[in-house]
Amino acid sequence: MSAVPLLDSVWLVGSGTHPDALTDPHDCHCYLIWDGAGGLLVDTGTGLGTRRWLAAVAEVCDPRALTGAVLTHYHADHAGGAAAARAAGIPLLAGAETAEALATGDEVRTSLAVARTAGVYPDGYRLAPATVDRVLAGGDTIAAGGLRVEVVAAPGHCDGHLVLLLSTGGRTMLFSGDCLFAGGRVSIQALHDCRLDRYAETVIGLAGRDVDTLLPGHGPFVLDAARPDIQAAARSFRRLVPPPNVLQPD
Ligand SMILES: [Zn+2]
Repeated sequence: MSAVPLLDSVWLVGSGTHPDALTDPHDCHCYLIWDGAGGLLVDTGTGLGTRRWLAAVAEVCDPRALTGAVLTHYHADHAGGAAAARAAGIPLLAGAETAEALATGDEVRTSLAVARTAGVYPDGYRLAPATVDRVLAGGDTIAAGGLRVEVVAAPGHCDGHLVLLLSTGGRTMLFSGDCLFAGGRVSIQALHDCRLDRYAETVIGLAGRDVDTLLPGHGPFVLDAARPDIQAAARSFRRLVPPPNVLQPD
């Protein structure tokens, strides 16, 4: 396990599946953005592998030099490590819904309770409450070193989901959390706040952006020419048909 360089200024520092960045099998992909002067972490995993991703970040930079950790959404595989990140000196940045849910470790709103019952997380796993330092909204810009990261509201997979756009080195990268995946897949679950109409608006909006690189919260990356993947999902939603689901039935 170590920091896996993906592109100039971007590393994979945590994952539930990538063999070289494995932190805990329940973790999402956690990305580090660092330009030599400042940076951001994108998502914090469950908290079960925090020690490992902190060590991976430390291979690249001092974790306390980061502007913060952005939480794309409040699901435990992305935000469960938030409290531990903050305890390590990394400020937390998240949308209002995520901030509210994390303040109390709300396992109903975040769907952790039902996900644990469904066997997605270990029986004893709990969501550690965490205080968000900066509440983000769509249209905000986050400064990190010489980089400027755009925050885009992206509800649909769950309420309050955010994605990030970073243009640097001649390419635009989309850190898509659980909103969009390689092959134009989406993540649709039978949860209280998975909203297909909002999802459609989100994806159709993102298809209008000039994205080169898709860095999702799970599964393969699309390092180049990612726009057709996003447009395929948008095409499906325009026909009112949900795109292929990254989650498969048994
Ligand atoms: Zn999710």
